[in-house]
Parts: sequence; structure tokens; C-alpha cells
Amino acid sequence: MKITNLFAKEGLLVKEKVPLFRLTTFRVGGPADYLFYPRNFLELSRGFEIFEAENIPTYFLGGGSNLLVRDGGFRGAFISLEKLDFVEFEDELVRTGAGVPLARFLTLCAERGLSGLEFMAGVPATVGGAVKMNAGAFGQEIGSLVEEVTIYQEGRFFSLSRGQLTFSYRFSSIPDEAVIVAVNLRLKKDSQEAINKRIADYLFRRKKTQPLNEPSAGCIFKNPPGFSAGALIDQAGLKGLRAGGAEISRKHANFIVNRDGARAQDILRLINFAKERVFQLFGMELEEELRVVGEG
Ligand SMILES: Cc1cc2nc3c(=O)[nH]c(=O)nc-3n(C[C@H](O)[C@H](O)[C@H](O)COP(=O)(O)OP(=O)(O)OC[C@H]3O[C@@H](n4cnc5c(N)ncnc54)[C@H](O)[C@@H]3O)c2cc1C
Repeated sequence: MKITNLFAKEGLLVKEKVPLFRLTTFRVGGPADYLFYPRNFLELSRGFEIFEAENIPTYFLGGGSNLLVRDGGFRGAFISLEKLDFVEFEDELVRTGAGVPLARFLTLCAERGLSGLEFMAGVPATVGGAVKMNAGAFGQEIGSLVEEVTIYQEGRFFSLSRGQLTFSYRFSSIPDEAVIVAVNLRLKKDSQEAINKRIADYLFRRKKTQPLNEPSAGCIFKNPPGFSAGALIDQAGLKGLRAGGAEISRKHANFIVNRDGARAQDILRLINFAKERVFQLFGMELEEELRVVGEG
């Protein structure tokens, strides 16, 4: 039986041949064979069972804000977490579905006078994606707020508590085969006014230094210890360098922006060129923060 029929028979939401450029902030990428939207944990596990039985590779999608999908797309199924969007408050502890966008999460927390994640204002990620990548800014990281993560791996759901998890710079110990379905974060009470002011301050600082009005995936490279990847690329004279429709941002050298119908191969050319030049000039190897997936 066709995959879509198998899913339809069980009332599961799946689409076929979905262009992924619409689902990434880079606005780049070919189609996925399937895109599955589990609406609850049960649907998620059932969908995985079907994909596994049919030998179909899977890849997890949050906000698509750290993702470059190659031009040939993905032979397999993308699993979008966007419908796992519950948020439950219990005093200073918040349990949230992995697919909740950070922007919505921040608004809900600010309304309740809960502080902690303001430094992520302006980042178009989901809570699950941010925890997976241990996203951070302005000297703070989301990992420091995590109390518990619920994941689905190898056919079962289980929770990992703070002590069972490791977070470091843009790294979490959650394995790539595991999908985060929910996260418990510990926040702190503060006045709504103070929280909103911090959000506005962080947004202001971000807008001043980052090309937020052009499609990008945030910082392409991790900062080498003690150095700024952006400063190295800038010193290499690469700001404004173009390949096809992609450009190394003139505003922030660690951003590549999609100026005009960029293809993934344009972006990859710029990435490789920047790595080569920085290595030639400074002897330093840049490592991608960006996740690259799919076929060329
Ligand atoms: C304008 C802009 C500004 C940014 N600023 C910052 C910043 O200040 N700091 C920072 O750290 N990052 C920043 N980023 C990058 C990006 O937002 C982060 O890396 C973020 O953590 C990605 O989350 P996401 O939900 O978009 O994940 P995606 O991009 O969808 O996925 C990223 C990776 O995580 C995996 N993943 C996603 N969701 C799950 C899940 N539920 N379970 C398991 N794996 C999952 C994916 O498979 C993929 O490998 C920025 C990006 C943009 C576009």
C-alpha cells in the first residue's frame, strides 16, 4: 500500500513531495518525499513505526532556522514538530511541546511574569530545536534552564532529567536519532515590565548587528575557542562575497543571506570558500553550526 494511504488509514497527517524551501528560514531546499505532522505522542510513535517498517529515513524539523536543505531535497520523511505546541505552567516550571515557537513561548512567559529566555528574542526557532542545539546568545544558553527533556527514541518515550544531560557551546547530549517531544524549563518570576524591557533591549542589539530582514540561518560557523568566526571572515575580506543568489552578509560576516533565489549549492560554495580562506590566512578551522541535509 502507498505510504500516504497507510497514513490516511490511521488518520495521520502526511503530505507528499513537499518543497522544503518554504519550511526553512534560508528559503532554500528541494522537496522531501514526505512531510509528517504528528499531533500528539501517539501519532508520532505510530508514524515512526510505519516509516521504519517501510525503511524510509526520517529527519526532524523544528523552525528550520539552522538548516540548509540541499537542492535535490530529502529522500525520506521530514517530521515536523509544529503541532506539538502545548504549553503548561506550574509556578516557575513550564512544560512545553517541542514545536512551540520561541516567539510565542516568550510572549506567554512574559504575560505570566516568567523570565529566563529573553536573550532568545528574535530567534525564529522552536523550543525543541533550541534545546537540541543548545541555542544561546549574549553569554546565555537555553541548556541552563532545562529541567527535563522528553524524547522518543527506538520505539519508546522517556525523560532525561538535568543530571542526565550535558550541554556545552551549541551542543546537547541528546542523540541525533532521538526526537525531543517536550521540554521542562525552569524560569524565574519577575515583573512583566522588566521582562518586556529586556526583550526589547535584546531585540534592539540583535537588529543592530544581524541582517534580520533577509533570509538566513543565523550564524553559519561556531566561534573557535577565544575567537569570533564573524571577525575572522570579516578580516579575510569576505563580507559581501557572492555566489549565485547567496551573499556573505555585509552586516555580520558569520551570516550568509539569500539575496536573490539562492540555491543550496551557492551557499555551500560560500561556506567552503570562507573555510579555505580563514584556514589559509589564520590557520584556523571553522566548524559549521548549520546542519546540512539532503542530496545535491
Ligand atoms: C535570524 C536568526 C538568528 C539566529 N540567532 C541565533 C542565536 O542567537 N543563537 C543560536 O544559538 N542560534 C541562532 N540561530 C540559529 C537557530 O535559530 C538555532 O540553531 C535553533 O536552535 C534552531 O532551532 P529550530 O527549531 O529552527 O531547529 P531546526 O533548524 O529545524 O533544526 C536544527 C537541528 O535540530 C534538529 N531538531 C529540531 N527540532 C528537533 C527536535 N524536536 N528533536 C530533535 N532534534 C530536533 C534538526 O533535525 C536539526 O538537526 C539563528 C537563526 C536565525 C535565522
